[in-house]
Amino acid sequence: MDTGRVLLVTGASRGIGAATARLAAARGYAVVLNYRSDAAAVQAVAADIATAGGMVVAVQADVSSPAEVAALFGAVDQRFGRLDALVNNAGVLETQMRLEDMDPARVQRVFATNLLGPLLCCQQAVRRMSTRHGGAGGAIVNVSSVAARTGSPGEYVDYAASKGALDTLTIGLASEVAQEGIRVNGVRPGFIHTGMHASGGEPGRVDRVKATVPMRRGGHAEEVARAILWLLSDEASFTTGSLLDVAGGR
Ligand code: NAP
Repeated sequence: MDTGRVLLVTGASRGIGAATARLAAARGYAVVLNYRSDAAAVQAVAADIATAGGMVVAVQADVSSPAEVAALFGAVDQRFGRLDALVNNAGVLETQMRLEDMDPARVQRVFATNLLGPLLCCQQAVRRMSTRHGGAGGAIVNVSSVAARTGSPGEYVDYAASKGALDTLTIGLASEVAQEGIRVNGVRPGFIHTGMHASGGEPGRVDRVKATVPMRRGGHAEEVARAILWLLSDEASFTTGSLLDVAGGR
């Protein structure tokens, strides 16, 4: 159990973020649920956790905004006075298309949430966790994607590139803070059954592509959550700078 630790999950109103928050609460973490827009969805997740006896609070913030990220971590300070773990889960993709058809503003939106957002949250977390700043250490997991390896041709090369950059951030930061009590790792989910694929214009995408997965199925958010929780836990005490694929062998 990880009782008493405080965990912040970005993008926790649904999908992998919500599953991670629920599992963390069941394992004894106090959980901060960040979300961008869907207050009703996040309140439903929070209510489930509270009903089960967990400590939980929901905080609205767009992770691509430096001011909102600062306010988000300020809210964590106010509510709990400590932070032990961060999961940078919030991520977006947009309509499937070829690279030459992408509007530059779209590419900027994707990079703002998928790369700048985690970077800003890592800055705030390190300032609180690092022994260099008087902190007690901690663990960070960045939710990347198998797309960082495959490049998502014909669908969203911009999204894949943002996840590749996120992996590089994970590797560099892990090394930078390795002697300061902080472990930084990534998970790279494959095709997971969540609402995210609707943003690409194809809600049923996982069923279309699952035949290409060695295990011949899509994954479930809970299966990714278990990998994230392992990386956050003391069971992973010598694991940092690692990228764990959760992709059915793909
Ligand atoms: P999802 O169901 O679309 O959920 C995305 C979550 O992120 C929502 O809670 C959303 O909040 C939040 N969010 C989006 N932009 C945000 C922002 N700027 N600031 C704060 N929160 C924001 O996605 P998912 O499938 O669970 O994906 C979670 C992560 O896994 C993402 O990083 C994604 O790239 C990665 N991933 C997913 C798959 C897959 O197949 N599903 C595969 C590989 C990697 P609101 O609803 O409140 O806007």
